[in-house]
Order: sequence, then C-alpha cells, then structure tokens
Amino acid sequence: MLIQLQENLADPTLDNIFKELKSFGFKASLVETRQGKYLICNGRQETDIRYFGSLPGVRDIHIVEDANKLVSRKWKVHDTEVRFEDGTTISRNDLTIVMGPCSVENEEQVIRTVEFLKENNIRFMRGGIFKPRSSPYSFRGLGIEGLKFFSAHCRANGIKVVSEVMQVSQIEQMYEYVDVFQVGTRNSQNYNLLDELGKAGKPVLLKRGMSGTLDEFLASAEYIFSNGNENIILCERGIRTFEKSYRNTMDLNAIPYLRDKSHLPVFSDPSHGVGIRNYVEPLALASVMAGADGVLIEIHECPPKAFSDGDQTLDFYQARRAIYRLRETMELRKRLVVE
Ligand code: PEP
Ligand code: MN
Repeated sequence: MLIQLQENLADPTLDNIFKELKSFGFKASLVETRQGKYLICNGRQETDIRYFGSLPGVRDIHIVEDANKLVSRKWKVHDTEVRFEDGTTISRNDLTIVMGPCSVENEEQVIRTVEFLKENNIRFMRGGIFKPRSSPYSFRGLGIEGLKFFSAHCRANGIKVVSEVMQVSQIEQMYEYVDVFQVGTRNSQNYNLLDELGKAGKPVLLKRGMSGTLDEFLASAEYIFSNGNENIILCERGIRTFEKSYRNTMDLNAIPYLRDKSHLPVFSDPSHGVGIRNYVEPLALASVMAGADGVLIEIHECPPKAFSDGDQTLDFYQARRAIYRLRETMELRKRLVVE
C-alpha cells in the first residue's frame, strides 16, 4: 500500500499516521519523490483502506498489486530524467555515452582516458575499482585508493564517475567519489544493496541480472525507487542463453520493452552484451535505433594489455569511430522515429 500525503504536513499528524499503521501491523517508510511525499507500507495484504484514507494528512491511497508499480508507466506517464546536482541530466533528448576501462588499473591510464573523453565531449567515465570476477584468482580491482585518483582526474575535467558498488559497506566509502553507483549483473537482485542505494539517493545504473527476467529487473529497480531514489538508469547488458558463440546474448528486445513499460531511462551495454570487440559497435548502434537513451562501452588505450575484459574492449581509434557513428545514429533516430 502507498499512502500519498498532503503537502506541508505537521509532525504530529504524520506521527499519528505512523502510529495507526503500526497498530495494524504495517511497517512504513517515508519517501519523497518528485510527485510528492509518500509512505511505502508493507505488511498485511487485506485491509480497509478507507480507514487510512480518512486519517488527517492523507491525500490518497494506492494499492500496489505489481512488484514494479513505481517504476512503471502506470505510476508516471512521462519519462524520468536523471538529474545531477550540477544540473547535468540524462534524458531522452540527448544520447548519453559512458566510456572507460573495465577496471581502473593505474593513474596514467585514467589521465589518458580522461583526455580522450574530453577531446570527444563525453561526460561520463566508467571504471571498476571493486571487480566482481568469475575467478577469485583474477584481478579484483584497486579498491578505494584507485577510486580516489579516478575521481580526482574526472572531476578536474568536468567528467562524471560511474563505478560499481558490490556491497552495502562500500556505499559510504565510495559516496563522495562517485556520481553514479553501478550495480552489476551479479548483484541485480541483492535487495539489501538496492534498499541502501535507494536511501543513499545518488543516481544508480542498475544492470539486468544475467538470468533475470524483465519483470525481475523492474522489481529490482522498484527496491531503489521505493526507498525514495528515483534517479535510476536501467541497463541491458546481455543475458545467458543456450548460444555459446559469444559471451552473452544482447537482448535488444528489452530496450523497446523497458522504454514502453517504464518511465526510467534505458541504457545498453553491448561490451558485456556480446563480449567480442568487433561486434560492440554494431550492437551499440542497433541499441540506439531500438530506443536506448545511452550506451556503456569499455575502452582502453591498448586492449590486449587490459587487466580485465580486453577481448570486448575498444581501443581509442575504435572508440572515436563508435562515438561518431553513435551520434549520427541518434540524429537519424530523431529524424525517422516519431515518439
Ligand atoms: C562491468 O561493467 O565491468 C561489469 C562487471 O558488468 P556486468 O555486471 O554487466 O558483468
Ligand atoms: Mn567489464
């Protein structure tokens, strides 16, 4: 159940609503969205909502039958823009390109990548410092020390930092150095992490679980949203199928589906989606035509030397070409596709 509150509610009125909810066995948390203030209540299913509707301070009651109500168009018809404190937005009108290495390896690499991004007018740099690796013997990231110089060079050049958070305790450590928390495919259903990212409030780039359905994916986003954070980007990054010819199967279907069902921005990550360097650009372009609001692409000055995911990583020459073609494709989409 969602309780929409009246504006400028006095504390005693709110306390009374909490008290009533508690006496009926509900656990309620207060969230503030751009649409207003709400109490997200969980507990028993059957209840007489008219009683709560009649309490002072209550504007409306919504029964939540879907696990992904708040992130769906049933809740909000218009597209959500992700907003940053400096006024930067991620929106439908402007293709967002996020580029950077799979892993941050050293300061020199960050400096060279930032230079490249600046030259090409790219506003977001990705880079893992906590790396979820399939083998415990692989490189697992530089940790917070790596994030500090990664962040310093980006900020000095007006570039936003996107980096993966793997556990709740890392949120606080990373908080001041990142602009977007990335949730990886392996943590897509780590509900404790999602709850806490909801409370933390910074934008979250949520990847789809590699075996997750789209309903499950949207429900994961709902965990973040229902904790009061609507700055969420959904990111399709390929799924596991019976096909073994490439790392994952890039589910392009997901892009128009998610754009249709949800008001959140949708990105695609063709680097992990296909896992083969030469196929990354064509899938990135296809994602844009399918309606993606942004793409995430792994780049490295010398991909064969990358500490992780070199096989799917573009070098700077390939990245420059991809940026040009992505922007041209976006222009084409704007001309051809009436939304
Ligand atoms: C990554 O972005 O480097 C990463 C580990 O992605 P995913 O969680 O999609 O595998
Ligand atoms: Mn990677």
